[in-house]
Amino acid sequence: MCRRSLSRRRPLPWLTAVAVLAGGLLAAPAVALSAPPAPPAEASITLVVPFAAKGPTDTVARALAAAMSARSGRAVLVENRAGSGGTAGAAAVAATRPDGNTLLLHHVGMATAPVLYRSLPYDSRRDFEPIGRVVDVPMTLVARPGFPARTLPHAIAFLKRERASVIVAYAGMGAASHLCGLLLSIALDVDFIQVPYRGTGPALADLQAGRADVMCDQTTNTAAPIRSGRIVGLGVTSAGRLPGMPGLPAVTEAGIRGLELSIWHGLFAPRGTPTAVVADRAALLRSALASPAFVAAMKEMQAVVATPRQATPEGLALLLGEETARWAPILRKAGQYAD
Ligand code: ASP
Repeated sequence: MCRRSLSRRRPLPWLTAVAVLAGGLLAAPAVALSAPPAPPAEASITLVVPFAAKGPTDTVARALAAAMSARSGRAVLVENRAGSGGTAGAAAVAATRPDGNTLLLHHVGMATAPVLYRSLPYDSRRDFEPIGRVVDVPMTLVARPGFPARTLPHAIAFLKRERASVIVAYAGMGAASHLCGLLLSIALDVDFIQVPYRGTGPALADLQAGRADVMCDQTTNTAAPIRSGRIVGLGVTSAGRLPGMPGLPAVTEAGIRGLELSIWHGLFAPRGTPTAVVADRAALLRSALASPAFVAAMKEMQAVVATPRQATPEGLALLLGEETARWAPILRKAGQYAD
């Protein structure tokens, strides 16, 4: 079969003769009609997500990739490089070629990891070029189906009482879920059994299956399963209730302080990416954030899209500086280290 198809490709002597003849006759018109050389195909852009698929960062990345692709006509791909609370993916991007075609979509972990990981192979502020803020997402405290406490005050009482046997799922040291769980344990003055996952996508799956009791996670992952009753929503970490989830109390209503938390996501390029390329990706980001499909998808999940001013290299650099200053003393005081 294979040999036959190969032999078919060999030109027959008489065909070659006809081709030479025709070539001679048609040479001039062939040159005139030939299409101009195609411009070099633009390389695809890859958004690296430092957590597992089907989690909040992944969800934002996929919606953003679709919007960036629609706005630019270029292929925008998502690659999950999970591990070590988001630091493995960030380290991979920091070491990649700074051509603007590999970008990191990360979150508050850029500010928390430098304190929690004493041997981090990158510096969040020195080894990346910020491109722009993407969205801000509230967090929720959620529980497995069948969790014995259905209201926030009952849940708090249960967590305090059963502290030694409560399993809290989270996405590794430095992740948003880790930060939220840590703030919760500080606020309640209890220690939980903490089980790390490569992202809160798989953590949520285990929560739904009853293999973990509670977790903190962004609404980008929890809004839909809370609405459909697949998990129990206990509270939101915003200062007040969310317009799209009015049935869920703010944790402050139950007297929990210090847990007001909204998770920002930002887009970063490796250090050394040319300024013009950073500006180009930032313009593409702003264009994508304005796309109706992206705005609608984020609204559905209670995420707040960054303003054009926030979605700039300066806006994200400022935010990262503020967040680093905000979390470093709290994390140092907690004294938890990943290494
Ligand atoms: N939401 C997760 C976190 O705890 C990460 C993820 O899977 O997106 O940071």
